[in-house]
Amino acid sequence: MRPRTCPAGDLFGRRHPIEIEPLPMKPVKEVWIDGAFVPWDDANVHILTQTLHYGMGVFEGIRCYETVRGSAIFRFREHMDRLYRSAHIVRIDPNIPQEELSGAIPDLIGRNSLSSCYIRPIIYLGLGEQGLAYHNAPVQTAAAVWEWGAYMGDEGVKDGIRVKVSSFTHHPVNSTMLKSKTCGNYVVSMMARMEALQDGYDEALMLDPGGMVAQGPGENVFIVRNGILKTPSLAGVLEGITRDSVMRLAEAEGLEVREEPFARDDLYIADEAFFVGTAVEVTPIREVDNRTIGSGRPGPVTQRLQEAFFRVVRGEDGVYDHWLTPV
Ligand code: PMP
Repeated sequence: MRPRTCPAGDLFGRRHPIEIEPLPMKPVKEVWIDGAFVPWDDANVHILTQTLHYGMGVFEGIRCYETVRGSAIFRFREHMDRLYRSAHIVRIDPNIPQEELSGAIPDLIGRNSLSSCYIRPIIYLGLGEQGLAYHNAPVQTAAAVWEWGAYMGDEGVKDGIRVKVSSFTHHPVNSTMLKSKTCGNYVVSMMARMEALQDGYDEALMLDPGGMVAQGPGENVFIVRNGILKTPSLAGVLEGITRDSVMRLAEAEGLEVREEPFARDDLYIADEAFFVGTAVEVTPIREVDNRTIGSGRPGPVTQRLQEAFFRVVRGEDGVYDHWLTPV
């Protein structure tokens, strides 16, 4: 029997088509697994791979950009540091040293002849034992790369997106720890994103267990009010590398940035709001829960930061060259 996709309709068979464009993954020549470059079609795991069943594994999402001086990976060191910190948090002892994986990824991009791409390293538990203890599970490491455009579409980046406050609460910090990009954490993100898409929005926004704004399924969030930027503190969200980049760019532009809690109605009355993340880059939010944000168009601060961000990743702003690792 052939695989099928998840139904886009409800349990009664009514269909609410999800209208966003799919982001197809074009196969490349090779994937890297445990020190070897293997053909795309052979990059498989056993059905009893432990991570597949319980979500205990850690991963990263990184982008390589075409810059004015050739291809370069954006904040590569920071992403790889976070990957190994994630492993530390969930007590996975990586089988491949960070330096070796960091050396393999640029080679992988070159061997696949990609000038810009998304990079997905993962440290996972392979075939060995089932059950919830994992001290005997074989740890494995892989990295894949593929061409990937704008996660929210070029239109989303340009005109802004419509967001729904999710019925799913973001993780409390003492269950799935938020400083780790643990595979299983993303079940909640996927629930939130699917709910938003099925309800006709472009993305979800999750509140924390106390009801304050936390983040998107795979993005950090900022609001702007009276010229001041606000983003939730790192206590309850992933330490986003784009979040950090945008904060530094904002400060360099002389803007005030506050890391402090805010509620969903702070979003409703914000002058501007935007998401940041490796996948979404800097994406304006034009509407939340059917309330227009500001003018309903990307605001001046958002546009300034978006432009600054794209200049940096394209290598057009010499001040931030140290954020770019040439391939
Ligand atoms: N939050 C979550 C849950 C994420 O998965 C991501 C994407 N890694 C982000 C925020 C944004 O982080 P970054 O800017 O490092 O991609």
